[in-house]
Amino acid sequence: MSIVKVSNLSKVFGEKGNLNKVLDDITFEIEKGEFVSLMGESGSGKSTLLYLIGGLDKPTNGEVFINENDINKLKEKQIAKLRRKDIGFVFQFYNLVQNLTVEENIMLPVIMDGKKEKDYKERLDKILKIIGLEAKRHSLPNQLSGGQQQRVSIARAIILSPSIILADEPIGNLDSKSGEEVMKLFKTINKEEGITILQVTHSEEAAKYGNRIIRLKDGKIID
Ligand code: ADP
Ligand code: MG
Repeated sequence: MSIVKVSNLSKVFGEKGNLNKVLDDITFEIEKGEFVSLMGESGSGKSTLLYLIGGLDKPTNGEVFINENDINKLKEKQIAKLRRKDIGFVFQFYNLVQNLTVEENIMLPVIMDGKKEKDYKERLDKILKIIGLEAKRHSLPNQLSGGQQQRVSIARAIILSPSIILADEPIGNLDSKSGEEVMKLFKTINKEEGITILQVTHSEEAAKYGNRIIRLKDGKIID
């Protein structure tokens, strides 16, 4: 089954006379369980594509299906719910809430979704173990290294067991050792939790953790 289906997707920014066609009639699918790396030069539209898939922006043309739902046919409330439950976002700069502890950050989606925290206690413990930060559960983000903070943001992305993680240059701000740890964590999550992953990366090495590479150039898939 395909988790993501992108069909004849185009995105144009700007106004008449000054149009910037960033994505040009793109079509592809990602199957459940895949780990896909999206590559391409800076400015080639990788982030734009990720945002369209995550329902954070609207296409100029074409469709995006997540678990067979045409997300641009959903009401704003339904899209918000899909983003909370089905999609886990990971960004380059972690986006943690600075005055909340590690475990409070990880539990944010549970609270936002109106669920009972106690029902997620076991999952929280399991995830803290997977990310290797059980001893830091009561620490604040600024007491952690960049790599540790990114592992917390990944934990937050998976607490509600989404079907897919969308990660935009997740190791772009990390040294190579921390980057490797983050990539290994993605691999573990992909294998053991069965969560599909789509990551944007500039690193051929990081891309190899996935099973497939999609390359973007001039708004089209070249490979
Ligand atoms: P990448 O992530 O591959 O570096 P982006 O998707 O961020 O590329 O950007 C692709 C192109 O789209 C760039 O030329 C950028 O200036 C343009 N762009 C991205 N977002 C916007 C926006 N909100 N408004 C106008 N232009 C944008
Ligand atoms: Mg980008």
